[in-house]
Amino acid sequence: MNPLITYKNNFLHFGPLEKNINSFLKNYEGPIYVYDLELLTSRFQEMKHLLSGYEIYFAMKANPHTELLKTIKKLGGKADVVSQGEIKQALNAGFLPHDIVFSGVGKTRAEIEFAVQKQIHQINVESIPELERIIQICTQLNLPISIALRLNPNISIKTHPYIATGLQENKFGIDLSQLHEATTILQQQSLVQLCGISIHLGSQMHELSGLQLALETLKPIFLDLQSKFRNCNRFDVGGGLGIFYEKTDLEKESQLLANYAKIISNCLSGVKAHLQTEPGRWLVAHSGLLICQVQYIKKTPYKEFVILDSGMNHLMRPSLYQAYHQIVPLQKHPHAKLTKYDFVGPICESSDFFAKDRECDVLKQGDFVAILDVGAYGASMASTYNLHKLPLEIVI
Ligand SMILES: *Cc1c(COP(=O)(O)O)cnc(C)c1O
Repeated sequence: MNPLITYKNNFLHFGPLEKNINSFLKNYEGPIYVYDLELLTSRFQEMKHLLSGYEIYFAMKANPHTELLKTIKKLGGKADVVSQGEIKQALNAGFLPHDIVFSGVGKTRAEIEFAVQKQIHQINVESIPELERIIQICTQLNLPISIALRLNPNISIKTHPYIATGLQENKFGIDLSQLHEATTILQQQSLVQLCGISIHLGSQMHELSGLQLALETLKPIFLDLQSKFRNCNRFDVGGGLGIFYEKTDLEKESQLLANYAKIISNCLSGVKAHLQTEPGRWLVAHSGLLICQVQYIKKTPYKEFVILDSGMNHLMRPSLYQAYHQIVPLQKHPHAKLTKYDFVGPICESSDFFAKDRECDVLKQGDFVAILDVGAYGASMASTYNLHKLPLEIVI
């Protein structure tokens, strides 16, 4: 049984307050993302408790919905952004420039100018040419900025190759062999100040030996930088903590978080630094459901397809990463038989599926289903491909 959902009178109820999801269907016009702010709040508080002393920069790319951002801000969180659009969205939601860390490999001149003019907390620099561009901009504007060098420790973690980011072959971070060049450039000027280092090894980590190895590798490097740069006192350990999509296990996710805290404090013992973290998925994934409607049950000699009014245009993760999402009916029919379906969308691509050969109660045309754990990298990746409408997003 999934602890995040219950059925009362055969209707799906969601989240800690067991909200009746069927109440949103009265004027149904198309797929709806539903976010539970209670669930987000309890996740944030759990993280804050276990990572006490850390600054938590929510990776906004996971879900930039204003109400989620306001909730995180209210709870004491900050924002990790990857574009000017996200900086603006963070500011609109009430974050202060000082609450914002700016990551990403492709920051344009205009984006850096904006960040420097706003005097955000920190820019995480991912290459030497980016560093040179930032110095040029700060010199022109005569404004200082704090930067952290995002280092690429060439360490692999067990995850889907598309979301591993800490390997030599990845575009992310500065290779350790180029660190000396970066620090030499930094020492020749004073407006751009080295305030720390950052890493982000990838996403959906369930196993933390890679993180441990990265921290062990970077500790002496950090200490050396501290001896050369007096403002170098921030250690940004990135995001990437995974959740369990196939079989919900909140207990195991809490243990993973506790383990994460322990590994970091062990590896960095004796290091004087402000710890920063950039979680996305772990905070928000469970808080979101995608509600959609069965358009057709299509039976062929080979397969039985459930064709929904939502597809890779609204939730790309299965197509992009072969990601698993649980799918449940909004209304249970007592004694319903089980069968196996391919859940697919309306898009003209064979990669447009949510699940294959998935066991499920027998469904019929017009039934509603909920796709679970879509609060991270769901709506934020949605597109209007095939000129379908974007999904509605509501918070409860
Ligand atoms: C995507 C990203 C994160 C968040 O990753 P999660 O797996 O959602 O926790 C954090 N930091 C950076 C730099 C990222 O690109």
